[in-house]
Parts: sequence; structure tokens; C-alpha cells
Amino acid sequence: MTPRPHDKHTDPAIPLLMHCCCGPCAAGSIAPVLDDGRRITLLFSNSNLDTEAEYLRRLNAMKTLADFYGLHVETDPWDHAAWLEFVSVVPDFAACPERGARCRRCFQWQLTRTSVFAERLGAHFTTTLTLGPQKNSSAIHEIGAQWGEAFEPWDFKKGGGNLRSLELCRKLGLYRQNYCGCEFSKHANTD
Ligand code: SF4
Repeated sequence: MTPRPHDKHTDPAIPLLMHCCCGPCAAGSIAPVLDDGRRITLLFSNSNLDTEAEYLRRLNAMKTLADFYGLHVETDPWDHAAWLEFVSVVPDFAACPERGARCRRCFQWQLTRTSVFAERLGAHFTTTLTLGPQKNSSAIHEIGAQWGEAFEPWDFKKGGGNLRSLELCRKLGLYRQNYCGCEFSKHANTD
């Protein structure tokens, strides 16, 4: 049994929509949720990605992973122009360092998109963003709290998530990107 990266047990009858920022983060996150007896649908919604080619590359990795687990992937079309407009309210957003105000606004975008899909599905939701070593799980959970119980604050860094990701990526030959996603993270070596 994988250690639980979430303190509260939720009724297994409630389905969970898992926003997946990429295949590697999802690879470290799915097992503990399945071990909890939950039904999962995956969501690939990543308009933060700088090019459509990168969106398709990461989606392809997601599909390989979803096939491995026998899970369904919902997709949200890539709309980077809309994402840029959304984050551009942050002063000097292009220069913000990772973990700064631009990233918090990006999390708001990702969770808002996910909440729309979750409502349609009658599901709770969470995000694999918390697996990334550079991602502040508390900041993600604080943003998610605006959706009340519908947002489940899993912290996938806990319980060996990164090791699990590494092993499964190797096994499945998943694409592992070397930047977080937007053009502003491209030379920052973030994840
Ligand atoms: S660095 Fe990553 S989390 Fe931050 S704004 Fe860019 S894509 Fe979003």
C-alpha cells in the first residue's frame, strides 16, 4: 500500500477528476489515489504551455500513462493566448521568478479550468501540480480552498511521489520535459 499523501479519507463513491500538468507528475500521483479506492478521470488542460507542439508532446505522454492504468483522459484545447491574457494582470509577470505571483495566477487558471470539468462530471477535483519540487503545495491548496470540499488538497510530494514518477517514467519511456511549461520558465530549469 502506498503511503497516503492526503490526510482526509473521502467517500470512495465520489469520483475524482485529477488535473494533470504532465505525464511525469501524473505518474507519481495516480497510485495513492487508486489505493484509496477512488475512481479517477484524468484531465489534460495546459494552456500555460508555450507551444502547441509541446502541448501535444505532453498529451501524448499522458495518453501512454492513461493506457497503462486503464483511465480516461479528458482534454481541454490549448489556448495560450487566453492564458497569457489571464496572467498578464500580474505586474511584470514575465520577470516573475518560479514560485512567485505569476505562478500563483497560473495555478488559479489551472484550477478554475479543472473546476468547470469537475462540475460537469459531478466529481471532486485535485491537481498533480503538487508533485513538482518547485511547486508550493500550500499555495496550491490555498487557491483550491475557494471551491470548498470540491477541491481535495492532495500533496503528491508526500509518500514517495517523485521516486514513483521516476520509476514509472523509465518503465514506460515517458517524455520528461526540462522546463515547467510557459515561455518564461524555459531558461529557468524548473519543473
Ligand atoms: S513557471 Fe510553470 S507554474 Fe509558473 S507560470 Fe509558468 S507554467 Fe505556470
